[in-house]
Amino acid sequence: MGQRAWLVVLGGGVALAGLHLATATSGLAGLAFALAVVAGTIAVGAAIRVNRPARPDAWAALAVALGTNVVGIGLYLVHGAPSVARPSTFHVVFAVSYLAYGTSLWRLARRGDGSDPTTLIDASILGLGLGVLLWTLLLGPFAVNPSLTAAERVVAMAYLTGDLALVPLLAGLVFARRAREPAHVVLLAGFLLLFVADARYGAAQLAGTYAVGSPWDALYPLAFGCMAAAAWHPSAAAEPKAVEVRPQLSRRRLVALAGAAVLAPVTLLVHRTPYDLIGQVTAAAAILMILLVIARMAGLVRRIDEQSRQLQHLSRTDPLTGAANRRVLDERLRLAVARLQRDGVAFAFGMLDLDHFKDYNDTRGHTAGDALLVEVVRRWHAALREVDLLARYGGEEFAILLPGCGRDEALAVTERLRAVVPHDQTCSAGLVIVTAVGATDDLIGMADRALYAAKHQGRDRTVVAEPH
Ligand code: GH3
Ligand code: MG
Ligand code: MG
Repeated sequence: MGQRAWLVVLGGGVALAGLHLATATSGLAGLAFALAVVAGTIAVGAAIRVNRPARPDAWAALAVALGTNVVGIGLYLVHGAPSVARPSTFHVVFAVSYLAYGTSLWRLARRGDGSDPTTLIDASILGLGLGVLLWTLLLGPFAVNPSLTAAERVVAMAYLTGDLALVPLLAGLVFARRAREPAHVVLLAGFLLLFVADARYGAAQLAGTYAVGSPWDALYPLAFGCMAAAAWHPSAAAEPKAVEVRPQLSRRRLVALAGAAVLAPVTLLVHRTPYDLIGQVTAAAAILMILLVIARMAGLVRRIDEQSRQLQHLSRTDPLTGAANRRVLDERLRLAVARLQRDGVAFAFGMLDLDHFKDYNDTRGHTAGDALLVEVVRRWHAALREVDLLARYGGEEFAILLPGCGRDEALAVTERLRAVVPHDQTCSAGLVIVTAVGATDDLIGMADRALYAAKHQGRDRTVVAEPH
């Protein structure tokens, strides 16, 4: 078993669906359904013990949901078919089962790091849109059917109402990016099969054509098989990787939300009512307004995205030269130290300072000094690798971080940088080669002292700090 157990469980569901089809016309029509809920309950319960899913409470709720069906069958065997005209224990049991389904989905979709109202809102929009569609096509006709008593209406609508209540929770699972786990895909498939089966059941009831043993009811064992198989899937055992749910609205999400939002008026538009023209014009206007509001929103989202990109860039670069700033330098230094500790990757860190830059400013003017700084950075960027970092530390002082560079290589790079400084200007540098953990404190201070030594020894040179 092990990795393949879930396929065996799924196969069981398929076999029971086959059994239903084989026995549909005999007196054993309910047998496959009964076997499927009993086996499904046991299979999910066993999966919690054996497969050790990461969120056992969610799967336990699923076991409860399937288990209540077992109770329902028991009631059926003792008391016979529940009366459609009168709510009974049977219907209470049934309500509990949907509550348990809902709990299971909710526990699976919740993020490890607290709540996410965005996901909830998006899921509700989708759920409401689909809800209106179902209401118009399946539930509404029950509600207004004059030949049914109030109790009959409630009972006839109960199944689909239960399914409907689960739709936002299923959408939540998808929107919380939990639906990428194979276990969750199989579970979603199970719920979709359940919905189709319930919708078909509701529609047949509505048309008065429902008969026990319908081949469509084979979908129930299939649905329960998928749910139980999901609990056995190896991916259910791993806590889903924390995926960052970005607050930004992606184009795809926006289109999905627009589609869900217009579902209600679209239904109104195409569904014939006694108030044809008035209702349809109103619906058309509502669709147009929803789309316009969303288009407006899309424009805002684009602008915010653009601004946050600009802000991100501004907060990380020096405005004069375009080199990285101190913030980036500190970040990358921490990263380099972490990589050294984890993977033993050495790096070199250096400080470079233009020599007698004050004189350059004084003789050629501040604007020329600025131009020199810009040109120096352009040339240095061209001379460095993609992985290297050049940051403006302040004034005419720069820092370089060279990942994976030993002494010789770092020295060669530094000499190359110093050689390309234009207008006969020179530059001094202090270098630290970081090969050992522990020598990582005060790297800036060490490089600065080496730079000071280079200045002191007559400028236009590089001094490598000796490790203590
Ligand atoms: P040393 O060789 O000892 O480094 O001499 P120095 O003149 O380069 O050093 P000092 O620190 O005395 O002077 C730095 C000068 O850099 C002073 C300041 O006018 C100039 N400077 C700092 N930032 C800028 C800038 O953004 N633009 C221009 N044009 N000059 C700047
Ligand atoms: Mg200087
Ligand atoms: Mg200086």
